Amino acid sequence: MGPETAFRSAGTAKPRHRAAGGWEDGDVTTLPHFDVGTVRLTRVPYFDVTLPPDAVALTEAEVAALPWAVGTWCASPTEVRVGQVFWVVESDGRTIVVDPCCASDAFLRTGAEARTHQDAAFAAFRAAGFDPDAVDTVVMSHLDGIGMNALVDDDGRWHPAFPNAPIVLSDVEWDKTRGRADNPDAGALVALHAQGAVTPVPLPHRLTADVEMVASGGHTPGHATVVVHSGGARALFLGHLAVSPMQAAVARPVALHDDPEQGGRALRTWLEDAATDDALVIGPLWPAPGAAHVRLDPVELVPAD
Ligand SMILES: [Zn+2]
Repeated sequence: MGPETAFRSAGTAKPRHRAAGGWEDGDVTTLPHFDVGTVRLTRVPYFDVTLPPDAVALTEAEVAALPWAVGTWCASPTEVRVGQVFWVVESDGRTIVVDPCCASDAFLRTGAEARTHQDAAFAAFRAAGFDPDAVDTVVMSHLDGIGMNALVDDDGRWHPAFPNAPIVLSDVEWDKTRGRADNPDAGALVALHAQGAVTPVPLPHRLTADVEMVASGGHTPGHATVVVHSGGARALFLGHLAVSPMQAAVARPVALHDDPEQGGRALRTWLEDAATDDALVIGPLWPAPGAAHVRLDPVELVPAD
């Protein structure tokens, strides 16, 4: 479950391509890096797009009550920004991709445009200096669209987009996926599993000495948070516990979660945890810069720089 339905209902939204410069010219000159101890986090954008608040299960009134969000997380109370990105985690000589361009299969992974989007998204990835063949691991916090985990060929068959990287997700999430394999995204992941490309794991699961997947639940029962901890600093990939940073400040259950009450509690727990040591919090759908510092009472997510 996720924002897919809302994305689809917001069907007039399209990627905003810059007229000159930017990824479409293979001319990415600046990328946000966040160094967490010896671990480097890089947000590689495919695009940021503006959607109505209901695309992220918020109301105009709720967004209007968050003036700190204007200019980054939203352009105005009716224009919520959402990003489609690759997050790259470099740790211990390994390259890990987290939740690449998910939750918008209706735009990006359906029909003839799926090929155009995957070519453009991976052109952006390569222009940022990364090689899909050199990625060691792909992490899915959960399955919400196949996203850029996979490439589709002319015959509609799915193949791993990162051919040397197992796609790692929790065993609980994999069980849910197998149970709904008639959905296109689950069917795509099942096809990848049949090719040996998917590795379900019990949580917690350590990816490197400094990077670990831990169970967070709420959004889906098998949802994982990715915790980076190095040199006394931390970053938390919150997955879809907050599909927009602004959800952190909304004290009500949101319908995007399989279990709205538990999803809200899990988000609050992680935010309070992050605030204890000023850990970065990160969301795969958050617009640039994609990472924030948490302030509590009242909650604000301050864009990281
Ligand atoms: Zn989701």
